Amino acid sequence: MNTSQSEALFARAQTLLPGGVNSPVRAFGSVGGTPRFIERGEGAYLHDVDGNRYIDYVLSWGPMVLGHAHPRVVESLTEAVRRGTSYGAPTALENQLAEQVIALMPHIEMIRFVNSGTEACMSALRLARAHTGRQKIVKFAGCYHGHADMLLVQAGSGVATLGLPDSPGVPPSTTANTLTAPYNDLPALEALFEAHGDDIAAVMIEPIAANMGFVMPHESYLQSVGALCRRYGALFILDEVMTGFRAALGGAQSAFDLQPDITCLGKVIGGGLPVGAYGGKREIMAHVAPAGSMYQAGTLSGNPLAMTAGLTTLQVLASDGVFNGIVERTAQLADGIRTVMGADGTPVQVGHMGTMFGLYFLKEADAQITDFATAKRYADTAKYAAFFHKMLERGVYLAPSQFEAGFVSAAHTDEVIETTLAAVTVAIQRGLIDA
Ligand SMILES: *Cc1c(COP(=O)(O)O)cnc(C)c1O
Repeated sequence: MNTSQSEALFARAQTLLPGGVNSPVRAFGSVGGTPRFIERGEGAYLHDVDGNRYIDYVLSWGPMVLGHAHPRVVESLTEAVRRGTSYGAPTALENQLAEQVIALMPHIEMIRFVNSGTEACMSALRLARAHTGRQKIVKFAGCYHGHADMLLVQAGSGVATLGLPDSPGVPPSTTANTLTAPYNDLPALEALFEAHGDDIAAVMIEPIAANMGFVMPHESYLQSVGALCRRYGALFILDEVMTGFRAALGGAQSAFDLQPDITCLGKVIGGGLPVGAYGGKREIMAHVAPAGSMYQAGTLSGNPLAMTAGLTTLQVLASDGVFNGIVERTAQLADGIRTVMGADGTPVQVGHMGTMFGLYFLKEADAQITDFATAKRYADTAKYAAFFHKMLERGVYLAPSQFEAGFVSAAHTDEVIETTLAAVTVAIQRGLIDA
């Protein structure tokens, strides 16, 4: 496979942008090799600058649920752009997207649009603190909620509960009120509430932990987390930036029958343009300025292009059979991968829900990954890297990291899935690392 143009562009990019990219995982750091520079996306495919074509399971890290350059989205955006790209004044489009989201997620009674998932999560925490008058927040090891200071807290074991920052540049004072617990571990969360119950403003959780690979919640775990929040008067914040309109059309909250106080959204809600949102109960959202006194603003928030891409994407996604079709093909893909790996005797943990999936290569055949500690202990990152490159050579673009989820779109036809599974079979048969 010729990648000379990508190599040249990456070399130049590294002199211009830190690490050559504008978001770290894109640099292929954990799998090695040269990131592909993309020229265009079309349906299920990415085309790179060297003329190679890939079936895309990253889909811009989730947003492109209809596939790239979906005709309806392109058409509505083309029309919108002629009317101007941003006004900094209200539009009917904002009402329409709000109504569409609320129709799909009835626990959201009012919503505020922002420009990224990061913004949504940090604003949701400010709101929870404003509403409760409390300072402490709880997050879970290995869950990612964007790069706001107070959420960049080291994952894992005892020291984590001290809220030590994860990144240089984050002052310990900013994370001093961030408590962490292991995902899927209810007793650990109970212990935090017993020790700090009166001070905890909110618990923020990814309903499916999909930023440490793909970890499903244990049966009734999320309901219990919500119940603990209610008992102690803390807000239950579901970060559905990734799972929203993916775990189910109505998000993980509809699939697991949850009643979040605040929901964070991003990714799919912008249909490939920068949109995030937080929303929830009317009496909570009433704190947000200018209805209330909790300040939060955005120059480009709710701009007509972003609203148009989101609205069209959700309308198409919610139309007859579209979402369920993607769900079926996601199951087909996950089952297929499990079968191929099983026949080969390669130990893997494959998960899927809605239109998302995950694949861990396991260091031990019987290992079960249920949280961040077991993900770090049992995931075979070297094997994943080898598999990633074999798939890339065969024209399948998976996430360039073992600790990311995969995504399927409406453009991934049966044929695309079959081609993918054939590539998996060949990649595995020739051996991953030893060959
Ligand atoms: C991607 C992601 C974010 C951050 O969203 P950005 O738009 O990248 O800022 C937050 N939470 C979850 C669960 C995510 O997957």
